[in-house]
Amino acid sequence: MKRRNFLALVGTSLAAAPVWSNIYSAPQPLQKAVDVTFPELPYAFNALEPVIDAKTMEIHYTKHHKAYFNNFLAALKDSPAAEMDLLDLFAGISKQSAALRNNGGGYYNHKLFWENLSPTKTSPSPALKLAIEKSFGTFEKFIEEFSNAAKKHFGSGWAWLSAGSDGKLFVSDTLNQDNPLMDVVDKRGKPLLCLDVWEHAYYLQYQNRRADYVDKFWEIVNWDTVSKRFESR
Ligand code: MN
Repeated sequence: MKRRNFLALVGTSLAAAPVWSNIYSAPQPLQKAVDVTFPELPYAFNALEPVIDAKTMEIHYTKHHKAYFNNFLAALKDSPAAEMDLLDLFAGISKQSAALRNNGGGYYNHKLFWENLSPTKTSPSPALKLAIEKSFGTFEKFIEEFSNAAKKHFGSGWAWLSAGSDGKLFVSDTLNQDNPLMDVVDKRGKPLLCLDVWEHAYYLQYQNRRADYVDKFWEIVNWDTVSKRFESR
């Protein structure tokens, strides 16, 4: 594990060197904000049924996510932020406009979200499972803590499992389109797993029953992706 890189995350020299070689599930070079592309959905709209219905997926991906992406590019136009690496941009997001914060987060969080869902059953790698047990006591306790964060989050936002600078994994929830990479949140770390708890993510199928949506979410978590994120941190 690249512990030195990892520890640099919450250091003071965030703008200097890359903190991770990889913020996505597969290795790729650091990315200028202006070079982001709209990601393909890795499965069909109906692939996650019955947990998430096809209509919700279609609207969520083609309308909501696409709008965040388009508005992110628009906000980057004529901004020095366009040339920044995404990680650096998020690490200093408090100095940027609300449009960059909301739409940059919206673009990025949904990309992570699609990647950490799967139509087929997967399990955490032994290393990830061990880290979860070390951090939360038991795997079941982790599920409970994450589920509670998602169920109890007030208003729009996200629930997260992240790796902190101390090597421990932690659960948090963020407002609107904020994420654990941003310098505006209480608990900062590398995102490993996220769940969208905006009403647009579940309301067609679950209406006000967010708790049911959260409980069902565990059936479609792509643990392969989460394990890769963990192991490449
Ligand atoms: Mn969403």
